[in-house]
Amino acid sequence: MEIEPRSHQKPEPVLVEIEPGFTIPDFMLAEVQIKLAYADEHIRSASVQPELIRLQVEAEASQPELIEKVQRIVESLAKGAIRPKTQILEDYMDRPVPYKADPMPELIRLAEISQESPGVFALGPLVTRLAGYFESQFLALADSFQAAPYRFPTLIPARYLERVNYFRSFPHSLTFATHLRSDLDVIDRFSQEAACAGGELTASPDSFAAVQNLLSPAVCYHLYFALADKPLPQGQVIATAVGHCFRYEAINLTSLERLWDFTMREVIFVGSKDFVLENRETARQRMREAFERIGLAYRVENANDPFFIGEFRKQAAFQSAFQLKFEIRVSLPFNQSTLAVGSYNYHQDFFGRSLNITLPDGSPAHTGCVAFGLERIAFAFLAQFGLDPSGWPAEVRQAAA
Ligand code: ATP
Ligand code: ZN
Repeated sequence: MEIEPRSHQKPEPVLVEIEPGFTIPDFMLAEVQIKLAYADEHIRSASVQPELIRLQVEAEASQPELIEKVQRIVESLAKGAIRPKTQILEDYMDRPVPYKADPMPELIRLAEISQESPGVFALGPLVTRLAGYFESQFLALADSFQAAPYRFPTLIPARYLERVNYFRSFPHSLTFATHLRSDLDVIDRFSQEAACAGGELTASPDSFAAVQNLLSPAVCYHLYFALADKPLPQGQVIATAVGHCFRYEAINLTSLERLWDFTMREVIFVGSKDFVLENRETARQRMREAFERIGLAYRVENANDPFFIGEFRKQAAFQSAFQLKFEIRVSLPFNQSTLAVGSYNYHQDFFGRSLNITLPDGSPAHTGCVAFGLERIAFAFLAQFGLDPSGWPAEVRQAAA
């Protein structure tokens, strides 16, 4: 994991090696690596092996404190962790694909993407058309369910997220929206003094109003809040919406694979347990056909949401035991890894109970969603088929080239 140094200060890093005192199981290595991103602001890069953690750390860091935080993360996630049962629902990883290289350098060279700041990218015509092709496939899926279209705001009230326990589950990835306090002196001072240094706005922190809204981390939450505190119309709803979503992924924001600001299309099911589970399954079968038509190499397997360390173990085990989340993991030939481009989710009656959405018999509604990351699927497609449309499957070439 390479971490971009904070641009306004670049002291020479020092190597810090930590032996966790127990063996980190192989199935937890990636999770530990991702969560170390949030251990301490002075960490520039980390590499995690079962017996050893190597960190590049800014020299001014207080090492005892940093080591203590790293140990806390590692122990909480990995000590005595039980291997989750892998469940693979579809496996098409061995489909032959023509491209082997990392598309990022070529995308940058051709100005098809340009980075505005870590995790924030402008996309050029090629990637935009490709994202549009996949969006048309997801819209066809939504149409096959006659899903009702919705448009949701990019902001989401803090009190909404509080009501669904978001602050406890995913505090690390939140993005806050604020504005200047409505005070003439504050606004005058800001207009005189505001400047940027090293990419950061320098302004007095007391200029900013308290946070009422955040940037939304998911699309489907907005639907659940629109349905809250009342009986569900006709006892079931199928809806679809696309929206910008925001998840701060710290040092991991290095390519199109992990963005701070990305776009998600969701198809959302609200109703009885059977209604949600059957539709989630139908959606998976329909997407299987769509991916087969273009010869995408991928698999669908059980997964968990990226809970923060305090909640991780309990929640991840729960999601796994009840088959709540399946991810579409697309092969990235250039580094023999996979990337999640979408997920099939079932939340049981969590939102129905938390938000008081009721079925005709008075019981809480169940919810589920299928969610696709548009930038990620375009990126994964380019990683398998390259940037030259002549090497693309005919259907994609005709729609997007
Ligand atoms: P749930 O509703 O159960 O919380 P969700 O619908 O919010 O889940 P996720 O499964 O967390 O959605 O994410 C859906 C998809 O969004 C992922 O499969 C991925 O393609 C995309 N995505 C998630 N995080 C990022 C990110 N940081 N950068 C780019 N794409 C992302
Ligand atoms: Zn969702």
